[in-house]
Amino acid sequence: MKSLWNDKEASEYKSDLALRVYTSRLLGRDKSLVLHGGGNTSVKIKVKNILGKEEDILYVKGSGWDLETIEEAGFSPVRLDKSIELSNLEKLSDPQMVNELKTAMTNYGSPAPSVETILHAIIPFKYVDHTHADALVSITNTPDGEKFIREIYGKKVIVIPYLMPGFDLARYCAVEFKKSMNKDIIGMALLKHGMFSFGDTAKESYERQIQLIDMADKFLESRKALNLSYAASKKPVEFNREEISVLRKNISKAAGSPMILFSDTNNKSLHFANDKNISKISQQGPATPDHIIRTKRLPAIGHDVAAYVDDYKKYFERNAPKARDKKTMLDAAPKLVIDKKLGIISTGKSIKDAMIVSEIYDHTIDIIYRAEILGGYRALDEFDLFEMEYWDLEQAKLKKSGSAPVMQGEIVLVTGAASGIGKSCVDAFLKNGACVVGIDINPDITTIYKKEEYLGIVCDITDEASIEKVLNQAVLKFGGLDAIVLNAGIFPKSMPIAAMDISTWNKVMQINLTANVELLKLAHPLLKNSPKYGRVVIIGSKNVAAPGPGASAYSASKAALNQLARVAALEWGKDGIRINSIHPNAVFDTGIWTDEVLQSRAKSYGLTVDEYKKNNVLSTEVTSHDVARLAVEMCGPAFAKTTGSNVPVDGGNERVI
Ligand code: ZN
Repeated sequence: MKSLWNDKEASEYKSDLALRVYTSRLLGRDKSLVLHGGGNTSVKIKVKNILGKEEDILYVKGSGWDLETIEEAGFSPVRLDKSIELSNLEKLSDPQMVNELKTAMTNYGSPAPSVETILHAIIPFKYVDHTHADALVSITNTPDGEKFIREIYGKKVIVIPYLMPGFDLARYCAVEFKKSMNKDIIGMALLKHGMFSFGDTAKESYERQIQLIDMADKFLESRKALNLSYAASKKPVEFNREEISVLRKNISKAAGSPMILFSDTNNKSLHFANDKNISKISQQGPATPDHIIRTKRLPAIGHDVAAYVDDYKKYFERNAPKARDKKTMLDAAPKLVIDKKLGIISTGKSIKDAMIVSEIYDHTIDIIYRAEILGGYRALDEFDLFEMEYWDLEQAKLKKSGSAPVMQGEIVLVTGAASGIGKSCVDAFLKNGACVVGIDINPDITTIYKKEEYLGIVCDITDEASIEKVLNQAVLKFGGLDAIVLNAGIFPKSMPIAAMDISTWNKVMQINLTANVELLKLAHPLLKNSPKYGRVVIIGSKNVAAPGPGASAYSASKAALNQLARVAALEWGKDGIRINSIHPNAVFDTGIWTDEVLQSRAKSYGLTVDEYKKNNVLSTEVTSHDVARLAVEMCGPAFAKTTGSNVPVDGGNERVI
């Protein structure tokens, strides 16, 4: 491990706080030191207050900030005197501590200071750096952990036994620090937790942290436990989509809301899931308290998914009596599942949350194997785990979280999603918190959104094998399917029946009708297992109720699709699946309606373009966003008791009314 300090780079950070930002980011760059909001740093600065009086202010990392991307605003200014005085109290509950620290801030708009603030305050150095380095927890989560640490560091660090983060830990460290501090000491090693380093300058404190962790790395290297390799698996991943959707349904039920399940099928996770000792090594809890906050307890093991679900029930029963009330147990759903075929399946209320759990566990696997080499992985005991899971502060966080977006944790498939109404639907569902799988024959589909919530796949919907692939990918990335928007369709050029070209007719039927039957058939097992029950939204057409001459193939295909929807509503009602149709008309903000086409059409009716666009009962323009808004609504609570309905979005059409 090398210091990333660069004099030229550092010279651009002028103030003490700016340098604090610089070295915090250097720490954040290395994921083996800090992961997703883990770790924290601080600096003590003299500041003149509004009355002209000088005060010592502790700028400590605020909650919600990541060291890698932190800015000056991410540090909470807390009065140092009060923070130190608090450490002299005999007792202070953690919620009280949070209150005292918040009210000791000098800027009400700053984020809440870290729960480790008092720890930073009691260390009498200007700069303090704290990480939850993989190397340190690998070494200390072992039977001889403390012995190893004393062997590695000698007189360089103060050793602190495991205590839950919060007031008790801070108080313990304050006493130990006063007792043991001398000129040789450059850090404080917290067993099964992490490392503190300190110094008079940003560089000194940062480089001491690197030096200390490098010593841990060297120790691991000497035991051949630093860089581990995982054998590549030769077999392609095979799995049963429906089983995963059942698992998701059960976990969602336990969590109290729809959950995303993300499968990481890399070599490391598959190697781990197939380890012959998996039931032992996977059951001993997270590597650091910080990881518990993110992952909760590691779940019961599933050699296959069905077995997992059974074990999970036992897990729930075992822990339920300890919960303070029924409500808190709702969040006790497992955060990840270990599966022989899929490796690690992580869960979250959003794909981002699930991927954080996934990355944390990726590091945990390294930590477990290293610890096994050093004598056996021994994480926190049952009591410590439980205490951490039901920590007052964690419970407070749960209660605070406000109302979620209407499609939070749900997965929607949109066909014909690269443009027009389809693209607007993708947009609207993403904005309402859903994960979206967009499919289209247009290759642009893969790149229209660059975010984890979106999965764009090139797909010819008339090809069954391609649809199978899409559903597999959707389940691997998100865990299931809650809703489908059947939007893909073609509108051939005007053709009277007397001059019908049958191959055109067949093509329209194949894309607008038959492909949808196939997709519905394959998706039904997934929709059936949707935690909030499946939904299908069909983008129909005004032509169903009011066809036009020259459009027989299109009108007939949409009318048949409408009949298909009605039959599906009847057949799938017992599964709770709702199928509703939207009938748009004159939606002109789509690819086919160029200015030129619009002008010529308007002219043929003797209207201006504007008059032509608003040629409906309400004299209003209908856009693809209006259609998309209704599609989202049809998947939400407003349509919870409605199936088989037909709703126009056309500004009012005299022939339909
Ligand atoms: Zn910590």
